[in-house]
Amino acid sequence: MGMAGEKILVVEDDELIAASLVRALTAHGYEAQRAANGADALSMFAPFDLVVLDLGLPDMDGVEVCKAIRAVDPILPIVMLTARQDEIDVVIGLDAGAVDYMTKPFGLAEFLARLRAQLRRTDSNTASSIEVGDVIVDPASRRAWHGGVEMELRAKEFDLLVLLTSEAGRAIARDRIMTEVWDEHWFGSTKTLDVHLASLRRKLGEEPGQQSRISTLRGIGYRFELP
Ligand code: CA
Repeated sequence: MGMAGEKILVVEDDELIAASLVRALTAHGYEAQRAANGADALSMFAPFDLVVLDLGLPDMDGVEVCKAIRAVDPILPIVMLTARQDEIDVVIGLDAGAVDYMTKPFGLAEFLARLRAQLRRTDSNTASSIEVGDVIVDPASRRAWHGGVEMELRAKEFDLLVLLTSEAGRAIARDRIMTEVWDEHWFGSTKTLDVHLASLRRKLGEEPGQQSRISTLRGIGYRFELP
């Protein structure tokens, strides 16, 4: 059975396939809805927990739909359906950000099992990932995204971002940052912290002199601001 409230969007132009998938998902406890084309899918996907995406759509290529979703949401699982046996399609699909794919025709039992696996995976991801406005940090995979774009961070920048975002809205003392991110017996200068903060602010798209996401609290420390 699906977990209560888990929402699945089925993007499929074929009436019969779409109806049978939606029916099966509903029977297994999911909340399933259908989008019949790519444009509808892009306007509908936001509240869903998983997207089942047919590659061959009437208005746009499923790969393009996948990329467009990925540009906004780096975590939402997308399972592609393809009628083509071509390995190359699979590679393109996975490159575009799909997490799994199934070649038609497939059995419902396998379909449901694949979806359950992906939903479990994101359950454990979202439990540990941190989201503050348009910044998403996933400590498990050591990846972070800003506005849907993956950030390229050095190890200490990443650790610093994890600490600041995990306590967003709260002041964190410089000493605590130094001991948690650098060394538990830190007695030296905190210049290295300033350098890393400046770099992190730059990577968050901030210009010097502009209002920062990371507020400096004089004599105290820093606070990552809530959106
Ligand atoms: Ca199709």
